[in-house]
Amino acid sequence: MDEVEVVVIGAGVVGLAVARELAMRGREVVVLEAADAIGTGTSSRNSEVIHAGIYYPAGSLMARLCVEGRAALYEFCETRHVPHRRCGKLIVATSEAETRDLASIAARAARNGVADLVQLSRAETLALEPAVACEGALLSPSTGIIDSHAYMLALRGEAEAHGAAFAFLTPVTEARCSSRGFVVSTGGETPMQIGCRMLVNSSGLAAPDLARRISGLPQDDLPTAYYARGNYFTVSGRAPFSRLIYPVPVPGGLGIHLTLDLGGQARFGPDVEWIDAIDYRVDPARADAFATAIRRYWPGIQASELQPAYSGIRPKIVPPSVAAQDFFIQDSIRHGVRGLINLFGIESPGLTASLAIGGEVADRLGRDLAAAS
Ligand SMILES: Cc1cc2nc3c(=O)[nH]c(=O)nc-3n(C[C@H](O)[C@H](O)[C@H](O)COP(=O)(O)OP(=O)(O)OC[C@H]3O[C@@H](n4cnc5c(N)ncnc54)[C@H](O)[C@@H]3O)c2cc1C
Repeated sequence: MDEVEVVVIGAGVVGLAVARELAMRGREVVVLEAADAIGTGTSSRNSEVIHAGIYYPAGSLMARLCVEGRAALYEFCETRHVPHRRCGKLIVATSEAETRDLASIAARAARNGVADLVQLSRAETLALEPAVACEGALLSPSTGIIDSHAYMLALRGEAEAHGAAFAFLTPVTEARCSSRGFVVSTGGETPMQIGCRMLVNSSGLAAPDLARRISGLPQDDLPTAYYARGNYFTVSGRAPFSRLIYPVPVPGGLGIHLTLDLGGQARFGPDVEWIDAIDYRVDPARADAFATAIRRYWPGIQASELQPAYSGIRPKIVPPSVAAQDFFIQDSIRHGVRGLINLFGIESPGLTASLAIGGEVADRLGRDLAAAS
């Protein structure tokens, strides 16, 4: 049986960032990925927004890792020439009542360390974005967009440059705790077993179910996986906006917003649709609800102008009745098994926070190693 120091399960943006960080700290890392390439899961089905860190509850992991991760991500993109743009976003109030919400959003952002929001009057907003309909807005200058695939390629390249190895088409079927760490079993065409001292479960939507297949891990604290699909629609032609346009958030999500890709093409979404199984089909009939939501800040859009684009599924660990969840980085302090990290509920802003999550996981594993020696 092959033995390595660390196995990372999953080559999405988070697994890649974890593998890169551990490899850069001198660890021998192998990444096991079920698909035939990096980033085929949630990491290629999102808005590609570099979030500022505005909405998350103060003191949450999401707040801290988003703000830290955003700074690290801009620095990474600039130094590695990953395509990105600090385009900024407007959170637009479309009624007098929503105008009052802007102040509380700005106050929450400030508690998270996001101190650059600027409150704009209607006239000031229209001077920036003449096509938007609103009563006022918050400008977030540090929100941006990124080519997420180019970013993931760069992460993989740096991980490999520091010695990390990748095995694709290698789904992990189960693992067990052993005297030396863990024994990981894989399926695929050539099933194998691999021994490791440390194990990181970064399998995204599959993480809760995979954790149930780690024998020796206490099962009483494992979350249940729930799926909340976010659908996207595009509009033909170019939308007349140069910044991202977000409504004031709605319960359960950020509201159907307008984001831009680096080519300037607009896309709208994601909405929130709770589903029972992984299914990425977008129902064209949702165009009516999208048009109604978009018209609040971009009047005149018709459902017939919207085309279904793609969807992503939020890896929820709480049911619809629970308003919010934090990232759940389950480590030995929580489950008692040294050298094991489960990454649960890494939904938005997981892309933005990925480098910071990589650092957090490496720190926690380093603490386990220090305690063991
Ligand atoms: C609709 C939507 C919009 C979003 N928008 C943004 C945004 O604009 N900005 C932002 O910062 N974040 C955003 N996010 C969040 C971000 O996309 C995720 O946090 C991030 O992609 C999660 O990455 P991951 O590596 O944890 O998961 P994934 O990308 O899903 O990777 C998990 C990997 O594990 C593999 N895997 C699964 N099971 C196994 C197994 N048994 N063995 C081996 N491999 C396995 C999968 O094949 C997959 O490659 C959004 C999320 C959604 C759903």
